[in-house]
Amino acid sequence: MANDLDEIRIRGLRIFAHHGVFPEETRLGQMFVVNATLYTSTRKGGLADALEDTISYADVCLFLTDYLQKNTWKLLEAAVEHTCRALLTRFPLLRGVELELEKPSAPIPLPFDSVSVCVKRSWHRCFVALGSNIGDTKGYLDGAVEALKADPCIRLKRVSTYLVTAPYGGVEQDDFLNGAVELETLYAPEELLDKLHTIEQAAKRERLIHWGPRTLDLDILFYDDLTQDDPDLTLPHPDMQNRDFVLRPMAELAPHFVHPVFHKTMAQLLKELQ
Ligand code: AMP
Repeated sequence: MANDLDEIRIRGLRIFAHHGVFPEETRLGQMFVVNATLYTSTRKGGLADALEDTISYADVCLFLTDYLQKNTWKLLEAAVEHTCRALLTRFPLLRGVELELEKPSAPIPLPFDSVSVCVKRSWHRCFVALGSNIGDTKGYLDGAVEALKADPCIRLKRVSTYLVTAPYGGVEQDDFLNGAVELETLYAPEELLDKLHTIEQAAKRERLIHWGPRTLDLDILFYDDLTQDDPDLTLPHPDMQNRDFVLRPMAELAPHFVHPVFHKTMAQLLKELQ
């Protein structure tokens, strides 16, 4: 979570709801206690002294109460996971949240004060590369952009210009249409990759009938500043610094974005490659 964010804190919000593994819990209900830290910038609202420029903690409390009463989960883990997602998509100024759900009357036959689950969730800034070299290449890239836009856990920020590029890697094939998008997501890196694979598969299904393999290629270039070496998901994308067709769209979208391994901006990496 970004360190420069301010915090709005809610402590001890009591909500009567019906979450629990046992049937009596879902039938009878019990009191839950919510503690939440909302990560946002309060500066604009603070300087203007204007409620519309910040997050209303009253609205958040009403939303939490309504959401946790309308839904029922067996696990506190599920309740906090879904509630974080709902909060982060409902309140546009909210960048992240720490949410603790306490169950002081949990069915434990021992003396105790409370049990709780506490998670931190936030929006993550990502860049995704798009490529296609079969059939209606622009249609495939546009389709991918629309599919990303339609997902409530993704906020599409910008789409680069599409570039016609020569194939990379020495394989004889048609020219590519390439681009990149900047997005924010609530997905973990692996969940975002799954989402991209689903979008690729949808394009592939159409292609299997009409065109052939490799209609759409979607790669995660950056996920915040995360670095990881897992072959299933290497971050940043391991070959991006050698690919003109990736660096050009990146330099258009975010020329000053610094590569977390090479410590060079996209504009610098592109210049060095050219
Ligand atoms: P490709 O055939 O180039 O689309 O490669 C796809 C495979 O590369 C996927 O199954 C991923 O598991 C793996 N992979 C590793 N790192 C990444 C990344 N940053 N973005 C997308 N796929 C990745």
